[in-house]
Amino acid sequence: MRALIFLKPGHLMWQEQPELTLQGPRDAIVRPIAATTCDLDRLIIRGEAPFRGPFAIGHECVAEVVSVGDAVAKVKRGDIVIVNWHISCAHCDRCHDGRPNACRTHQKGAMYGLPGLGDWGGTFSESLHVVEADFALTKVPAHVSPELVASGADNLPFAFEFTVPHLRQTPGADVLVMGGCGSIALYAVMFARAAGAGRVVYRDEDPHRLDVAARLGAEVIEGPPPRQAGSFPIVVDASAHAASLLCALRSVEPEGIVSSVGGHFADVSMPLFDMYRTGVRFYTGRGRGGPNVAETLDWVARGLVDPSPVTSEIAPFEDAPTVLAEPSLKPILTRPALYGGGKLD
Ligand SMILES: [Zn+2]
Ligand SMILES: [Zn+2]
Repeated sequence: MRALIFLKPGHLMWQEQPELTLQGPRDAIVRPIAATTCDLDRLIIRGEAPFRGPFAIGHECVAEVVSVGDAVAKVKRGDIVIVNWHISCAHCDRCHDGRPNACRTHQKGAMYGLPGLGDWGGTFSESLHVVEADFALTKVPAHVSPELVASGADNLPFAFEFTVPHLRQTPGADVLVMGGCGSIALYAVMFARAAGAGRVVYRDEDPHRLDVAARLGAEVIEGPPPRQAGSFPIVVDASAHAASLLCALRSVEPEGIVSSVGGHFADVSMPLFDMYRTGVRFYTGRGRGGPNVAETLDWVARGLVDPSPVTSEIAPFEDAPTVLAEPSLKPILTRPALYGGGKLD
C-alpha cells in the first residue's frame, strides 16, 4: 500500500509500504476515501511547527471499512466511518468517561499522522490500522457525503467542543473567535451561529477567511489583533499567534471562558494579574474528538450546519503531493469507495 510521507516543508511523496493486517480480534483495517489537513498539518507542511519529516502525515479522514476482527460488532466491510484520531484503549477510566485524548494505556499524545507516538500511519495513506474498532469508528449517516465531513474526526468536533457546550450553559451569549490559523476558527463561527449565539465576532487578517466567516454569519474585525476586542462570555482562540491569544484573554467577560485550540509552540507570557482581577477560565487542549463525533455528524446530517464554505478544493488522492505542498485553507482529497458504502451485505 502507498503512504503519503511528509519529507520537509513543502515536500511530500508517495512511498510503497507493506500491506496492513489485523493484529487482534477487535481491530479493523480501513481505507481513507476523503481526507483533509488539520490546521496543525498546514503549519507542519509550511515549516511553522516543530515536527520534522519524514513521517506519514494526516489524522483526519472518512474511511471505508475493509476488514474487521472477529470481535468487532458495530461495523462491517463497506461501512463508511469517521476514524478517531486519538489512539485510545477503549477500556480505561478516561476512555470510559469521554476523555480518549487522555487515555492511560497509550502514551501521551498517541495519534495518527505525527512521528514518535507509535507510528500509527497517516490518513492520506491508502490504508490505516485501527485498534478497538468499535470504540474508534463512528458510522457516517448514509445521506452525508464523505467530502462534507472529511474533517469530522478532529477540526469539526473540536470547533463544536469549544462552542456548543458553552452556549448550552449560557444561551444566546456573544462569542469572539480569534482566527488566523485555518479552518477551526471558521467552524467555530458556524457552530456558534447554529447554537444560537448572540453576536459572533471573527477577527483575522486574511481576506479569504474573513469572507468565509462573513458568509457563515460572523461580524468581522479585519486587521492585526487589537489590545482588546470587546467583552465576550465565550472566546475561542484559533489564531496560533501570541498577540491574538493575549487579545482573547483581555476580551473575556468576568468569569467567562477562553478556549485555545493550540498552535502555540513557544511560551507565551500571560497577563495573569488582569486575568486574576477579571476571573478567567482558560482551557487549552487537543480536543476530545471521538465523544463529539456522532453529534457533530448529526448536526451536519440535519442541515443545522454546512461546513462546505470552508472547503477550499477537492482533488483526487493521487494529486496529494502537489495539492498539499502549498496547502490551501481546507483541501479535501478523495478516492472512490471500493465496497459500495456498506450496501453489499
Ligand atoms: Zn488535528
Ligand atoms: Zn484508554
